[in-house]
Amino acid sequence: MKNPRVLVTDHLHENFSKLLESCGVEVHTALRPSREELARLLPGYDAVVVRGRTILDRDLLGIGARGRLRLVVRAGVGLDNIDLEAAQEFGVKVYNTPTASTQSVAELTIALILAIARSLVDHVNNVKNGLWGKSMGFELYGKNLLVVGFGRIGRRVAEIARAIGMRVYAYDIADVESYATRIGAQVVDDLCRGLSIADIVTLHVPLNNETYHMIGRRELFECLKHRAIIVNTSRGAVIDSEALLEALEQGIVAAAALDVLETEPPKRDIDKRLARHPRVIVTPHIGASTVEAQYRAAVQAAYIVAREFNKYCEVIEREYARVCLHLKEIGLEC
Ligand code: NAD
Repeated sequence: MKNPRVLVTDHLHENFSKLLESCGVEVHTALRPSREELARLLPGYDAVVVRGRTILDRDLLGIGARGRLRLVVRAGVGLDNIDLEAAQEFGVKVYNTPTASTQSVAELTIALILAIARSLVDHVNNVKNGLWGKSMGFELYGKNLLVVGFGRIGRRVAEIARAIGMRVYAYDIADVESYATRIGAQVVDDLCRGLSIADIVTLHVPLNNETYHMIGRRELFECLKHRAIIVNTSRGAVIDSEALLEALEQGIVAAAALDVLETEPPKRDIDKRLARHPRVIVTPHIGASTVEAQYRAAVQAAYIVAREFNKYCEVIEREYARVCLHLKEIGLEC
């Protein structure tokens, strides 16, 4: 077989091309191509590697598959930018690197919770503006944290929260009892009940038909404990933004910290209003934006490509083993 050709369309850690090129794979980068450009490029490549920005819909996958395309690698977790059904239909394999950013997103989640508890953003901004006013914060110790989606990130958040002394409740559609028990968390099998006891709710579910707006008007107005805090580092559309803004304005939700919005950057008026709200902190989807997460994703993506095209060589093997060792330390598989 000729050397496989790989197209990269989102920014990846430099190790990705270095590793693959040293194993005889051709890597070309076309950052954030227009749809037309992507349609022109895809048929000429055996694999395309994306992050969250590149949308691979049915048409584009079909165009690619009619050419050489047979592999899509999403360097990261969420696969909501790829039409998985179409990929399967066209015989294009899709892989992601789900553990690469687990620790980074968990740490950001805890940072956001702490930022709200101590009004960090306001205090820092006040001092920068020459003000020395203090407002009263609260400790996380002893507070109830509801983790919605007790998967990789949710569990890591729970472990850190337990170390701080929070009471952790886990809600998931899967059976998470044994892991929850191991770390001293309690499973709740009804979302509404979980919301009614939580001081802080943190969301870690994938976006799909079941989770779209799963935190909606009913959950916020009928279930949520009065003046609870909402943290979302999963996907914007897991929360109904209109309902959240209303709940904030009525004081039902005391504050929110969001790393994700329904439109990013905020395009709709509702997302702009949420971002500007005085009791909301919005970060620009930085959950996986750490050197470590990007390095792991690049190595794991390079490994997937090399494995698929039988181009596995020593340098990838070494880096991959190193990444797997790191992940094992925090209880994750490679
Ligand atoms: P995961 O698959 O390990 O865990 C998700 C959990 O959600 C699973 O345990 C699953 O059973 C549960 N779940 C699915 N549907 C549910 C439902 N309807 N109700 C309750 N639980 C449900 O995923 P993960 O690696 O922990 O990632 C979680 C989320 O974090 C994803 O949405 C991902 O897109 C997002 N993410 C965000 C960033 C960022 O930069 N902010 C980075 C990485 C991942």
